[in-house]
Amino acid sequence: MTAPEFPAGTTPGARLPSTPPLALLLDVDGPVASPVTRDVKPGIIADLVALATAGIPVIFNTGRSDTFIREQVMAPMIAAGMPAGTVIHAICEKGAVWFSYTAAGPGPIHVDHDLAVPRSYGDDVRRLVAEDYARHMFFDETKRAMVSVEQHIEVPSADYLAEQKLFDSDAMDLMTRHGMGVVRLEHHAPNSDDEVDYRVDPTIISTDIESVRLGKDLGASRAVELLAAQGITPQAWRTVGDSRTDYAMADWLHHNDHPVKHIDVRPADGVPVKPYDVLTAADLGLGEDVIHDDAGGAFLRSWREAMVS
Ligand SMILES: [Mg+2]
Repeated sequence: MTAPEFPAGTTPGARLPSTPPLALLLDVDGPVASPVTRDVKPGIIADLVALATAGIPVIFNTGRSDTFIREQVMAPMIAAGMPAGTVIHAICEKGAVWFSYTAAGPGPIHVDHDLAVPRSYGDDVRRLVAEDYARHMFFDETKRAMVSVEQHIEVPSADYLAEQKLFDSDAMDLMTRHGMGVVRLEHHAPNSDDEVDYRVDPTIISTDIESVRLGKDLGASRAVELLAAQGITPQAWRTVGDSRTDYAMADWLHHNDHPVKHIDVRPADGVPVKPYDVLTAADLGLGEDVIHDDAGGAFLRSWREAMVS
């Protein structure tokens, strides 16, 4: 796909347009941050700053904490020279937490406490990790609503993924003991009232335990609200992710009549049939081996180039 991403006649400029040709809704782990090093390449930071400076809304929609976004994305973007007046929104913990930042730093952190996992359960998971799983993974202390347990960078992926299955099973048993109904992939374990309120969502580098009301669709709805509050209505959206659950961003936008294309930077799981376009690195003429942040970075660069050409 080589056609310009911007409709003819639009000239994105320094002034923030109220109807920008595109808005970007970005999963972070995978398309922006490397799942190997967990940090963000300088070229991606530079392209994010250039796009945001030109008035293209850049919104992160991640399962990560606000701390992770501040350290891995916000600080490098500010250091790269984000101009005053540019606002970036970050929806964290799959919609439970959100904040916005400018060159001056982060604004207030918003937390929807109704969407939090009970603290006593989180305490038990922390103990479980310390006692049985500390060699392979660590408890993410920066989460405010979810419970997340992440692979140590130095542990080989295959070793982690094998251990993760055992951890996920223990974490689900622990939920049953806390009277919490839980679902993991195909597995379904309702509580005594036959309710499922929580899910266990394994990714390639972590397990997230969260309210079933959280998700990338909730993040998408918050993104539209945050832009609307600024008086911004994008003409079209691009959502970018590396997991099946990331399609929920584009599903929600499409369902609510926002034009959207989804970019899958790790299509190895297969690309599902959707009522909107799904793009992969192959659509940029790149090989199947270009995945993760290499693919995410290539798309950011293509949008940046389309904008300045
Ligand atoms: Mg991801």
